Amino acid sequence: MTVAGKTERVLVLNSGSSSVKYALFIGEERLASGIVERIGEPGSPVADHEAALDIVAGELADRNLGIDSPELTAIGHRVVHGGTDFTEPTLITDEVTAKIEELVPLAPLHNPGNLAGIEVTRRLRPDLPQVAVFDTAFHSTISPAAATYAIDRKLAERLRIRRYGFHGTSHAYVSREAAALVGRPGCNVIVLHLGNGASASAVSGGRCLETSMGMTPLEGLVMGTRSGDLDPGVLLYLARTGGMSFDEIDTLVNRESGMRGLCGENDMRTVQERLAAKDPDAELAFSVYCHRLRKYVGAYYAVLGVVDVIAFTGGVGENSPLVRQTTLDGLEALGIAVDPERNRRGKGVISPDGTAVKVAVIPTNEELEITRQTLAILPRTKRP
Ligand code: AMP
Repeated sequence: MTVAGKTERVLVLNSGSSSVKYALFIGEERLASGIVERIGEPGSPVADHEAALDIVAGELADRNLGIDSPELTAIGHRVVHGGTDFTEPTLITDEVTAKIEELVPLAPLHNPGNLAGIEVTRRLRPDLPQVAVFDTAFHSTISPAAATYAIDRKLAERLRIRRYGFHGTSHAYVSREAAALVGRPGCNVIVLHLGNGASASAVSGGRCLETSMGMTPLEGLVMGTRSGDLDPGVLLYLARTGGMSFDEIDTLVNRESGMRGLCGENDMRTVQERLAAKDPDAELAFSVYCHRLRKYVGAYYAVLGVVDVIAFTGGVGENSPLVRQTTLDGLEALGIAVDPERNRRGKGVISPDGTAVKVAVIPTNEELEITRQTLAILPRTKRP
């Protein structure tokens, strides 16, 4: 991956349904970042994405880094769902926005907000190259065996039902950092991205072979408020016997499940405080969380055959020695161990010297990855 040159300025926008996060980079250095929240919510002063981008522009202008600055090289947009159309960062044109629009049914909670941000910044800076970086793109290399659900193929094709995976910019960044840590680009890495959303991936030589999120970000690991893996029969049962509507089930599995569903709390810090006080709901929630994660480590070990690095990242992965220790406890026979002192310090390698698998804590940096990917596709002539 290209490393951003010292003079290039990239504005990174993560424009969600109700918030806009931004970061401004000069080269690899983050000069400013912030978030505008509660877009379009009742009583909020921020009526829509136009108003949110106005605030972002104002905050940047205050620091002489405005969106209208002639020194800005490009704008990089995070776009959640690229379907099978977008497997690379893509220069945004009318055709590209139309295609992202077509993908809205696959990501109804995410792509509309992403598009709203793109529309506003294209209006503000029609002269500037703007690039879409897709959350799904890094996972486009998973094989048909990994991507296909075992349901009727024609139906699945017609409705574009397959596994896509998400958090791709983070998995790309962290797996590359992990490879740099062992000095071998060809190595095999398991990335555990544990934030409020959570996903795992198996990466070999920089190519993703497997990932835990599926057609939507619901599949896989236990998350803050999402259930992760669930017998699909449970959903049928909730509808038929539980009398729940599809919208109610949607809310249940996306917003009221995971750690929140198990113990009423989605913040892992609070869960751990309650754990220390021997709260039985928190104990169960924590054990379900770590058990699921451990199962995925085992599964991805088998997918890769040989594992060189297990990398923890995201708010929980970077900050919870207890999650890391509990998840990997007792796996010495697989060459996996965690050194208690290194784990407590929680930076870089946390496995003891001499174990076959290096376990590492690698802070993710999705904004820097978007900056790099944005610059990588710009024609040389457009770069200062
Ligand atoms: P992210 O989505 O990557 O920003 O991660 C958010 C999650 O990280 C929340 O559930 C936080 O509780 C969790 N988190 C942040 N700091 C800590 C910490 N010191 N220990 C455990 N979890 C943490």
